[in-house]
Amino acid sequence: MPKFIHSLCFLMTLFFGLSSTAQNEVYTSEVRQAVADTVFVNLKDFSQDFVYDMKYATADNFLKAKVYDCAECFLRLKTVQALIAANNDFKKKGFKIKLYDCYRPLSIQKKMWEIVSNPEYVADPKKGSIHNRGGAVDISLVDSNGKEVDMGTPFDFFGIQASHNYTKLSKQVKSNRKFLKKVMINNGFNSFDSEWWHYNLKTGLKDKVSNQKWNCE
Ligand SMILES: [Zn+2]
Repeated sequence: MPKFIHSLCFLMTLFFGLSSTAQNEVYTSEVRQAVADTVFVNLKDFSQDFVYDMKYATADNFLKAKVYDCAECFLRLKTVQALIAANNDFKKKGFKIKLYDCYRPLSIQKKMWEIVSNPEYVADPKKGSIHNRGGAVDISLVDSNGKEVDMGTPFDFFGIQASHNYTKLSKQVKSNRKFLKKVMINNGFNSFDSEWWHYNLKTGLKDKVSNQKWNCE
């Protein structure tokens, strides 16, 4: 082969080789940019339609201490997506989700367990709570006037009256709890028998426990 043709072939091989590599690079970088649904995100970056009453960012909780530096709701992306879908269903009926707690670092779980070592109300940090996995939320509902719906007990009421199985409640309270539970279950969550406010994302039960802390701006 004459030297010129040989060089041309070499250049063409180089050109097509590079351009196909470049195409591959574009493709793989798109794949890399696709965010896994298990990544931790801040709910407020996805929706402004929630009411926040983050109890552990105040001293108004059973720990009697402010254990979060700020009132943010961090969750895994898939939990956020399911929660927004549930909130959209509530909004159609004139209600909104009020948040008490979302992701909870494992170190806070340990503090809670020291005070309430009862797995009916606080998960043993050795196993970890679904809150530590970014798949659980503690919630209630507010009506169109922003008034909290009557669920029969306050949040974190550690007694039988907070149970889904407790029946000595007014018709209205029973119906409110049932409404909350129905919509949450329809959107991929499980209820928790001893706490009307607690919901676990069904696909989030096996995710890794985390102890990461979020930055407060
Ligand atoms: Zn909970």
